[in-house]
Amino acid sequence: EHLDREIESILGLRERREKDSELYKIANEVFDKTTKETLAYLHRRGKIEALYGVISTGKEANVFAGIDGNGERIAVKIYRTYTTEFRRIWEYLAADPRVGYLPKDMRKLVFVWTRREFKNLQRAIKYAVRVPEPIAFRNNVLVMEFIGGEAPAPRLKDVERELEKEDFEELYNFTIGVIERLWKRGDMVHGDLSEYNILIHNRPVVIDWSQATVRRNRMSLELLKRDLRNVISYFRKRGVDTEDPEEKFRQLAGI
Ligand code: ADP
Ligand code: MN
Repeated sequence: EHLDREIESILGLRERREKDSELYKIANEVFDKTTKETLAYLHRRGKIEALYGVISTGKEANVFAGIDGNGERIAVKIYRTYTTEFRRIWEYLAADPRVGYLPKDMRKLVFVWTRREFKNLQRAIKYAVRVPEPIAFRNNVLVMEFIGGEAPAPRLKDVERELEKEDFEELYNFTIGVIERLWKRGDMVHGDLSEYNILIHNRPVVIDWSQATVRRNRMSLELLKRDLRNVISYFRKRGVDTEDPEEKFRQLAGI
């Protein structure tokens, strides 16, 4: 079939014939018809020339390394159109004042989720938060700047054993700075800020903006409190003389 040939060309299988590679296995498992059509569309538009590796496999999404039509490296986050997280996604989207109509169909709900993550990246960048630059999105596929050198950049969690107290102090100030800037200037909260969503590449880069939302959201204070608690508790355990999370929360929330 024509579509399958297009996908093969995106995966580079005909040249490499690595039919049992991890990339091929994951692709086979998670590329349903919608995803294939979406990838083919982005391929024709020059947004994705090829995918060549799997960076991460998760419950909700898989992240691939690739190149675009100009040979620039990209990261491609592909949400599963069938997810067991339907309920949580629905609740998060329902609370977001920016999201209008909520589709009943799971697949379409995932499209809304993907689109919101793209918009969150665009918004965060405006407030001087270092994030992967958003490049394109369509349906359940999000294309963004690749963070890394040869290999994808490690997460803070992956490098914490090699870090000194001063590194943690610096990273703590960076992370609290992000929370403050987002909240005060961007009217925004990340909602899943942790050592798993900070990549270390020259400077730290904050990823995974799927849960992020605006201050007007009725859940935003709860998310702000959670981010502060998680981040502060992480750095406190690593010897940083941190602020008090509840006090910081009250200060930011203005209560
Ligand atoms: P989730 O945690 O929901 O599976 P993330 O957005 O956190 O999704 O991405 C999963 C993993 O993929 C990250 O921990 C990171 O290692 C990698 N990753 C995500 N985006 C990029 C990117 N732009 N460049 C390099 N690696 C990335
Ligand atoms: Mn993540």
